[in-house]
Amino acid sequence: MIPLVKSFFPPAKELMPELEKVIYGGYVAEGEYVYAFEQKFGEYVSNPYSLSLNSGTAALHIALMLAGVGKGDEVISTALTAEPTNVAIKLTGAKVVWGDVDIQTGLLDPKSVREKISHRTKAIMLVHYAGMVCNLDEFNKIAAEYNIPLIEDAAHALGSRYNKKPIGSNASYTVFSLQAIKHMTTVDGGFLCVKDKSAFDKGRLKRWFGLDKTKARLENDITEAGYKYHMNNVNATIGLVQMRHIKEIVAKYIDNGKFYDNALKNIPGVETLHYYPNTESSYWLYTMKVDRRSDFIKVMEANGITASELHLRNDRHSIFAESKIELPQLDEFYKKMVHIPCGWWITKEDREKIVETIQKGW
Ligand SMILES: *Cc1c(COP(=O)(O)O)cnc(C)c1O
Repeated sequence: MIPLVKSFFPPAKELMPELEKVIYGGYVAEGEYVYAFEQKFGEYVSNPYSLSLNSGTAALHIALMLAGVGKGDEVISTALTAEPTNVAIKLTGAKVVWGDVDIQTGLLDPKSVREKISHRTKAIMLVHYAGMVCNLDEFNKIAAEYNIPLIEDAAHALGSRYNKKPIGSNASYTVFSLQAIKHMTTVDGGFLCVKDKSAFDKGRLKRWFGLDKTKARLENDITEAGYKYHMNNVNATIGLVQMRHIKEIVAKYIDNGKFYDNALKNIPGVETLHYYPNTESSYWLYTMKVDRRSDFIKVMEANGITASELHLRNDRHSIFAESKIELPQLDEFYKKMVHIPCGWWITKEDREKIVETIQKGW
C-alpha cells in the first residue's frame, strides 16, 4: 500500500553518531543544541524570533495566551483541521466560533469570518490546511481593520509561502509542528514564530514554568505561572540533522503536488482546488474533491493506494457542542474532500500510477 503519510529520517549513519554524542554528552535538557536548532529553523522560515517547543499544540497554547485569549473570549476558527487547533482554544477557556470555509479551497472564508466578529473576538485562527495558504490578502485587511491578531496554524505548511516569503515570517503568531508525520519531524516538537523580541521573551517564560533561563535560578522570580513546554537537546539534535535535508524534502512534496495539479485538471468526477493570489503551497497532503468519495477510496485501495478524508470535522466533537452552527459550505466541501499520497516517498512511477488509476474511473 502506498501510504498517505510517512516519517522522514536522515540515514542512520548520519543521525546516530550525533544522537549518541548528545545522549552521552552529559546534558540532554534544553541547552546549546536547542538554541542552535532555533537559529537554523529561524533562518529557514526567515524569522529570528522562532521559539522551539515540545509540540505544535504547546505552540498553539502559548500563541493564544500571548494574544490575550482567555475565559469569556471568542476565537474564530475552522472545523476543517486536526483537533489540536481547536482543543488548544478550548484549553484557554475561550469559545470556539466556527467560520465557514471557501468551497473552492476548503480554507476559512474571509466573508464568513467578518460575519462572526464580535466584541468578544480576541483572535482569528487560520489553518493553512494541507499546506495551502489561506487568503492572507483578505485576512490581513480584517486583522488591521478590527485590530484582531491572526494566529496561523502552519502545522501543515512548513515551506509554504506568501508574497514569496516563507510562512512563519509574516504574522504575529505562526505555529509549526514537528510531530511524527509532518514535513519535518524531531519525533515530537513544535515552533512558535512571533514578531518581535518582546513576544519572544514572553513566550520563553511561558514555556518553562515562568522561570527566566537567562538569569541564575536563585535570582529568578516567577510573576506568572508557565508550562513545561520546552524542547530538549535530544529532539533538537534530530532537528539539526533534519535541517540539512529540509529543502530537498519539501521540494519533493511541492513537485508532486504541482504534478497532480496539472495531471488531474480535466478528469471527470475530480475537482482540483484553487490557490489564493500570492500564495504557494508546500502540499503536505494533496487535497481534492471527488464525486462518490467512498467508491473512489475503494478503487484506490484495490490498487494499493491509500486515499482518505483523514480528519474528522472538529464540530462533531462533544466539547464543541456550545459552538454548534450551520456550516453549509463545509458540508458541501467535506462530502467530496479526499487526500491522495503526495510526500517525499512518492516516486515519479508512483504518482503516474496514481493518476492513471484515477483516470480509469471509479
Ligand atoms: C499536527 C497538528 C497540530 C499539533 O501538532 P503537535 O505537534 O502534534 O502537537 C496542530 N494543528 C494541526 C493542523 C496539525 O496537523
